Amino acid sequence: MKPAALHLIIACLGYYLAGLFGLMLAIPPGFASAVWPAAGIAVACAMMLRPAAVIAGVAIGSFSLNLGVISGNFSAFSLSMFGPALCIAFGASLQTLSGYLLWQALVKKETTLNSPKHIYQFLLIIAPVCCLVSAVVGTTTLALFGLVSSNGIAFTGITWWVGDTIGVILFTPLVLTLARKNNDTRTRATIVAPTLLIFTGILLLFLSSLKAHEKTILQEVKRNALYFQNKVHERLTISEHKLAVYSALYNTAETISREQFNRMSETFLRDDNAINAIGWIEIVPHEKRQAFEAAIRQQGYPNFTLTELTATGDLITARKREQYYPVTFVYPFPPNIAAFGLDLGTAANRLEALELARDSGAVVSTPPVRLAQAVGDERAIVMFLPIFDLNYRRQFHSPEYAKAHLRGYINGIFDINDILGDIFDEAAKKHFGIKIYDTTAPGGAELLISSGHKHRASTDPIRSQFTFGQRQLTLEFYANSHFHSNTRNWASWAILTIGFLLAAMLQALLLVLTGTQERIQREVARKTADLLQAKQDAEKASHAKSAFLANMSHEFRTPLNAIIGFTNLCLKTPLNDRQAGFLNRVQLASESLLAHINQTLEYSKIESHTLKLKCQATELVRIYGKLEAMFLLQAEQKGVAFSIELLTEHPRYVVTDPLRLEQILINLCGNALKFTDQGHITLRSTVTTQDDNNLTLRIDVIDTGIGIPPEHQQTIFDAFQQVDNSTSRRYGGTGLGLTITRQLIELLGGSIALKSQPGKGSHFTLRLNCKPAPSDYPASDAASPSPELSPQMQLKIFEENLQATQQAAGETKRTQTTAAQDATHDATHDTTKAPSITD
Ligand code: ADP
Repeated sequence: MKPAALHLIIACLGYYLAGLFGLMLAIPPGFASAVWPAAGIAVACAMMLRPAAVIAGVAIGSFSLNLGVISGNFSAFSLSMFGPALCIAFGASLQTLSGYLLWQALVKKETTLNSPKHIYQFLLIIAPVCCLVSAVVGTTTLALFGLVSSNGIAFTGITWWVGDTIGVILFTPLVLTLARKNNDTRTRATIVAPTLLIFTGILLLFLSSLKAHEKTILQEVKRNALYFQNKVHERLTISEHKLAVYSALYNTAETISREQFNRMSETFLRDDNAINAIGWIEIVPHEKRQAFEAAIRQQGYPNFTLTELTATGDLITARKREQYYPVTFVYPFPPNIAAFGLDLGTAANRLEALELARDSGAVVSTPPVRLAQAVGDERAIVMFLPIFDLNYRRQFHSPEYAKAHLRGYINGIFDINDILGDIFDEAAKKHFGIKIYDTTAPGGAELLISSGHKHRASTDPIRSQFTFGQRQLTLEFYANSHFHSNTRNWASWAILTIGFLLAAMLQALLLVLTGTQERIQREVARKTADLLQAKQDAEKASHAKSAFLANMSHEFRTPLNAIIGFTNLCLKTPLNDRQAGFLNRVQLASESLLAHINQTLEYSKIESHTLKLKCQATELVRIYGKLEAMFLLQAEQKGVAFSIELLTEHPRYVVTDPLRLEQILINLCGNALKFTDQGHITLRSTVTTQDDNNLTLRIDVIDTGIGIPPEHQQTIFDAFQQVDNSTSRRYGGTGLGLTITRQLIELLGGSIALKSQPGKGSHFTLRLNCKPAPSDYPASDAASPSPELSPQMQLKIFEENLQATQQAAGETKRTQTTAAQDATHDATHDTTKAPSITD
């Protein structure tokens, strides 16, 4: 199928089905629905599908739907209904087109509403304006075709517009959200679920309100039904009783003259317009017909003859019959002249009524009949009251007794319109309809009279039965469609309208929120990608820098080593004091420079993750001895005490990288010495936990120096960080020492902590997790002191050993920096001693 045709079918079906749903929400039943979802579906379809096909589909859908509504579900279909249905369909398509064009103009190509601006434009411009189109066209159509009364135009117009607007506001975004491809299920559910939930809640509330309203209406109808039934009943009973009064007149004399009858009737009927006519019927056997006719003619009616009514309603001379029941007197005479002489026994139903009246001795009425004197099509009830002779006694009544005493009948012609007219008028004013059926005949009900027939019944009729002139009558009472329109169900309308408006607002809010969230997510994703790229770039640059630093340090170190080596050699040649002084300074400066270069190289190696540890059995005591040898003299020269304390028993060997541990401790002690001008510096070593496999070594380096302010206690472990710039000016340094220290400690599987108070001193605590090494573990140094010796003794032995070594090398004085450099220096000259530094 071509897409255009498919789109047309989708729009047509969508509109039709949504329209059927909207009709369920119509209040009062009729044309304007409180919410018209079809309008929203149409605009959404136009946005997503081919607009031209959708507009055509909407026209067809709306046309069929409205044709169904106007013709009462096609039950009363006629060609004249095409006009209004076509016009309304035109309005619906025009609304869809204007909605589409407005959207294109304001929201542009997007088929989603996620920015507050677009949502406001949709709520305040697109939906209300496009719905105005169909409301105006639709209401004008209904008014022109007379489908809505003039005083209902404004109401219909407003509810039409409000209903369509809510339909568009609620359903267009709903459909677009559901149909949007790049919406995930969660987004769809976030927007659609709360709306649908509220929607269902409102529907339930609406239906219960509708039910409550219907109940109220039904109660109102029932109350009125009872009132009008009583009135009708009372009116008919009075009429019946009025006829009975004539038996009193006929009980006064054997014969009643025409004058007496007329006088009585005149008085009696003066104020009663329900009784059209009163007649006196005599019973004339055929053999007395001529005498009877002659007698009447003599009374001043020369043309008098017995007549009868044919089936076609013509009045002819009465045909021969055994017995005649002619109307002998009739009042008022002029309008009823046609009945004068009419034999009532000719029609079977009348004869039946006459005989029943005689046999029962009570008033009997005929089924509704067309009277001989009738001008229009109106029906009347003819009632017969049997009149007996003066000897008749009611208590002896039997059919034979009655036959023997019957003198004739009083017949009353009751025009039901006249009897009940004012009651019907009153009911019509209140928008109620009344129908009275004669249900005496078992075959079926014959409609006697109906009021309010112009308007459809909008409730099931309330029925009641009663007897009138021995006939069974059924009264039907119902409220007509105008009754419903006049008792407008504002509560239900308000529930639907306000409820759906709230739902629409909630939906708009959700659209804004999800739209904003979507935008934020997009932005975050973009920024994260940028940051990731920037981070990668920075890392690359940092690596390049570290590599460059490593290379350069390495390159600097080779010529520097040559300078130091040759200076040393030169110092061993015969020199005068001045030359020796110069060369000593060159030596000191070069060694200091080498220390800095080594530190930089170290840092860049750690940064570029190329530093490798070499763990081996390490004799701690040996390292401590070396430190004491390094710092004791310098401290003494500064007037500061320096001590190393071993608080617990230490294993002889632990597995760690001796070179790095030494480097760490040299750095910490070096800093302590550098920043302490009086007091003492203590290195305290403790084995805190130990078992066969693990050992925790805690080393505290405590000084009474300048201390570190709290705000710098974390940052000093970062690269190039010093407490302040004056530190570097006064004490020198690169700010790399503690950084390298911390990183080395972490590489060794330990941690470092600092406690310090400015002016009071600093306390660095280093915790190392190592393993106790078995005595046969490959040792770092073969010439280690005997493990049996106490630490104090070991220190002494070390001291002696080291002093001997230093003396041999002619190095009696060493600075912290030269000590640091020492390890590396050794490494450059004797690769077997410090294999862990891998350039
Ligand atoms: P530097 O080469 O500058 O000494 P470090 O990383 O070793 O670099 O030290 C960083 C800074 O931390 C020092 O400049 C100093 O301000 C502070 N610092 C380190 N140790 C101590 C200490 N024991 N007493 C006081 N300040 C210290």
